[in-house]
Amino acid sequence: MLQIKQYVKAQSLDEAYELNQKKSNVIVGGMHWLKMSSRSVGTAIDLSGLGLEGIVETEEAFEIGCMTTLRMLETHEGLNIYTMNAVRDAVKDIVGIQFRNTATVGGSIFGRYGFSDVLTVFMAMDAYVVCHKAGQISIREYAKMKADRDILVKIVVKKTPVHMAYQAQRHARTDFPMLAVAVSFLDGKWNAVVGARPARAAAVVDETGLALDVTEAQAKAFGEYVAEQLTFGSNMRGSAEYRKMITPVLVKRAMLAAGKEL
Ligand SMILES: Cc1cc2nc3c(=O)[nH]c(=O)nc-3n(C[C@H](O)[C@H](O)[C@H](O)COP(=O)(O)OP(=O)(O)OC[C@H]3O[C@@H](n4cnc5c(N)ncnc54)[C@H](O)[C@@H]3O)c2cc1C
Repeated sequence: MLQIKQYVKAQSLDEAYELNQKKSNVIVGGMHWLKMSSRSVGTAIDLSGLGLEGIVETEEAFEIGCMTTLRMLETHEGLNIYTMNAVRDAVKDIVGIQFRNTATVGGSIFGRYGFSDVLTVFMAMDAYVVCHKAGQISIREYAKMKADRDILVKIVVKKTPVHMAYQAQRHARTDFPMLAVAVSFLDGKWNAVVGARPARAAAVVDETGLALDVTEAQAKAFGEYVAEQLTFGSNMRGSAEYRKMITPVLVKRAMLAAGKEL
């Protein structure tokens, strides 16, 4: 069971950061993942009073505060038009609406979970995170970094023209994904991000010059290449062999969907 000795609603990011330097203290997002752990927390640091919830859309970018909920991502019109509904598709099967009403994007990205739909879809975009101390870090770099005691303040998605699609394989809706795939055609190149292998999402970029309007055979071949570049593991949801086998299928489906003109 999770035990919390003290609760502090932070008055500033500096205060939250200072409190978070103590190992026994912890930042609190929606608390869904935290509450599953059995640990003793000194101070739970609540960021909810710092105006970090919500999506600000400008001409150049979407700025997504760390306390933004998954449901806000799912229902944000501008973000979903921009991503061809890839964001909605990535989060729509995460547990249920009540859960998504409180689970935060900050907790999801900071956690860098090996099953994360959220990390997978953001890694397919031209996106970076802003941390209180470390500043801007590309989300693909952040995905590789070890969790530290910094605060993830926001995620910024630059409005670089993109074609995107999301595909996941689940035993049943609302279960954890067995495999998660986000593809994007970004800066003239196809990117495939594969998560839930089960391992942190990783990106593979096409360097052969495949065009946006790929053929089925080209999409399948790229999917096979992606599967060769990555490592897969086994858990109760599926074997490494199965995950590797379905990777080209999901990559192909996503590329054909993303390749369609709007
Ligand atoms: C039963 C269950 C099923 C799930 N299924 C899926 C699924 O199918 N797909 C999927 O992608 N995800 C799934 N998740 C994960 C979920 O979507 C969230 O990612 C997760 O709950 C973390 O978000 P949270 O707001 O609850 O964070 P919390 O539990 O509050 O925090 C998680 C971690 O992040 C840290 N943290 C939170 N915010 C910040 C911040 N701003 N800066 C620094 N550190 C921070 C916390 O200290 C903690 O270590 C599931 C979770 C649960 C509990």
